Amino acid sequence: MIPQSTAQIEPLSLIKHIQHNDDWRTQLRKAYRSPAQLLAALDFDAQQILAMTAADQGFSTLVPHAFVQKMAKQDTNDPLLLQVLPQAAEAVAHPDFNTDPLQEASYNPQPGVVHKYKGRALLIAAGHCAINCRYCFRRHYPYNEQRRARSEWQQSLGYIESKPDIEEIILSGGDPLVLTDPQLFELISAIEAISHVKRLRIHSRLPIVLPARITHRFCERLASSRLDFVIVVHANHANELGDDVAQACSLLRQHCVQLLNQSVLLAQVNDSLAALKHLSERLFEIGILPYYLHLPDHVAGTTHFFVSLERGQALIAQMQATMSGYLVPKLAREEPGNSSKTVYASH
Ligand code: SF4
Repeated sequence: MIPQSTAQIEPLSLIKHIQHNDDWRTQLRKAYRSPAQLLAALDFDAQQILAMTAADQGFSTLVPHAFVQKMAKQDTNDPLLLQVLPQAAEAVAHPDFNTDPLQEASYNPQPGVVHKYKGRALLIAAGHCAINCRYCFRRHYPYNEQRRARSEWQQSLGYIESKPDIEEIILSGGDPLVLTDPQLFELISAIEAISHVKRLRIHSRLPIVLPARITHRFCERLASSRLDFVIVVHANHANELGDDVAQACSLLRQHCVQLLNQSVLLAQVNDSLAALKHLSERLFEIGILPYYLHLPDHVAGTTHFFVSLERGQALIAQMQATMSGYLVPKLAREEPGNSSKTVYASH
């Protein structure tokens, strides 16, 4: 959306009032919700903002202050800014890029559940995120059709209960950690009641983009569960991993939560040996194991982020040649129709 006049751009003095001690829900409410707000917070002037503002293609801007505070001021190539700022390139159509590249609609036994992998089922626990990543493979996902009211979770859980081979539940979304504690704890309790479920894996970007979400209360609930918890966070660049994120990860680890990271290989953001090495080293430093490096999916509106398989394999080979094996993530891609991710060897 292009602002009609610079008068619509909030003055910096109004934007920079975030209180560091706000709770996570207040921080989420105060998140930047337009390119103009976001760019003004990074000290771009009104003319630059007009020049840099592109249509959002139906996927709105949403960026918490905690993420923006890690961006460099006035840097159009900042690797964090590039992940969240709508760009004109999103309007570029390509016959190989579409709105459901993983054909997830085919794996829905019922709304709210994706049962694609043996032994595991994915539960769509929330229909939105704390940040809107422009490269997201679910940017066109029909969350409104999939979103379950709390009372309707029972139907999804009933499906899981009827499949005794399901040992692991993956909470996904959207981002499951945008649920309030009462909502989340109710869901955890219901999953604990299904005896054949052993592990609960939470896929969330909140520990990275809104680390205030990781409270003592939340961690204590996980620690008190009979389930084993894995949180798969999502960071693409070492600059995302500030001291606030390190503190959140430390708290989770103190409560016996295993932390893994998955990244997406993104052009101009992290498609270099230096960026990937730095990311892995910083992840390890704060207690997160690098897990997957995903090749970008062929999602409509994301051609400008695309990195080829050959480039990905070459980067992984360079990492293997210079780093310990446990710091090198697996290069992977989800292929429609396959019952597990395709993992690629280095080139
Ligand atoms: S947090 Fe994850 S699901 Fe949400 S927009 Fe970003 S990549 Fe997509």
